[in-house]
Amino acid sequence: MHVVICGGGVIGVCTGYFLARRGIDVTVVERCAVASSASGKAGGFLARDWCAGSPLDALARRSFALHARLHEELGHWSYQRVSSYSGLVVPEGGRRRHTATKLGWISDGVIIGGQLSTTETTATVNPRAFTFGMMRAAQKHGASVRHGEVTGLSRRGDRLVGVDVDGETIAADAVVIALGPWSLRAAQWLSLPLVYGLQSPSLVYDTAKDVPPEALFLDYQQDSGSTIGVEVFPRADGSTHIAALSSQDPLPMDPAEVKPDPDGLKATQAICERLSPAFRPERIIARQACFRPVTQDGLPLIGKVPGSEGAYIATGHSVWGILNAPATGEALAELVAGGSAETTDLTPFDPARLRPLDPA
Ligand SMILES: Cc1cc2nc3c(=O)[nH]c(=O)nc-3n(C[C@H](O)[C@H](O)[C@H](O)COP(=O)(O)OP(=O)(O)OC[C@H]3O[C@@H](n4cnc5c(N)ncnc54)[C@H](O)[C@@H]3O)c2cc1C
Repeated sequence: MHVVICGGGVIGVCTGYFLARRGIDVTVVERCAVASSASGKAGGFLARDWCAGSPLDALARRSFALHARLHEELGHWSYQRVSSYSGLVVPEGGRRRHTATKLGWISDGVIIGGQLSTTETTATVNPRAFTFGMMRAAQKHGASVRHGEVTGLSRRGDRLVGVDVDGETIAADAVVIALGPWSLRAAQWLSLPLVYGLQSPSLVYDTAKDVPPEALFLDYQQDSGSTIGVEVFPRADGSTHIAALSSQDPLPMDPAEVKPDPDGLKATQAICERLSPAFRPERIIARQACFRPVTQDGLPLIGKVPGSEGAYIATGHSVWGILNAPATGEALAELVAGGSAETTDLTPFDPARLRPLDPA
């Protein structure tokens, strides 16, 4: 059996790993580079039970456990358990109060409201290193990466027989669409619901050991009076990822054209400088932006594409794509190889639950 996976983000790569581990022949087709989009630019925060009460709960719990196991078995990537805290950034000139919880590395203008989690239930991973590590592990099981742009699918009747890549057709017994927000493009070829992209700029700092394994979720009041969330994720490799804003910028059709808005980055940098002396401008190692894939009901699409034999999709993981990639890949590999998902029930994520877009 030959499975072609369209997209070398964390979802495509994890699916490729779990298929290749079963001895299945896998080709991952990636237009730019593995982990070049959101999967290389995300924060990498992982939580065991923050999806409790939602249909994502079982997927998240399974994935959290798999992250730990994969890191132990294969991990040449940065992974660490972290505790996490909520708080707020006092407006400039505002009154500073003493707080019950004091973190030694943050500035006085940040008030910690409480502890959200311990190292039992939360962790961070460097998402680029994780995605690369999983791709390397898949390659050890025989998977390959093909650099190229997926431009269409070849079919015989209702059955898919191949993937069109740069003018050539790669024969396939099964095809997995894992193009992140660009999965929308596959709605031209398959009966699929809407997937769209939401952009956020972020900064990565080289903070060495100055930031302990303490993630922060802070409210920050803007001059306009509105409040935004600031997320600070320290990783084991000494880098700290900070994202604060989102933008309404449209998704460019070419992933290589995703560029951060300079004003958004400047605003994010100004916020970071108020959080801790660890976030000095000369320590910035990445100024970036990426689009997370989102669906109409906020749940991912994972499973068979209705009406096309041999077609599968895995996308729309929104803010939890790095967390949920391992269990998505594991369960989808079971579905593709054996006809049913065993380890996680994929019913809540069945693409057939949403109305497909009308064909162009
Ligand atoms: C700022 C930010 C912070 C985040 N933080 C976290 C976090 O802390 N924890 C968490 O769990 N999640 C987080 N996420 C979410 C996570 O990053 C995404 O859900 C996840 O990376 C999506 O992975 P993907 O593989 O579906 O898509 P992508 O990473 O977008 O991968 C899709 C791939 O398809 C390729 N491609 C596109 N078109 C074609 C084509 N025609 N042919 C071939 N290849 C193509 C692209 O180049 C790309 O590499 C964050 C997201 C953002 C934006």
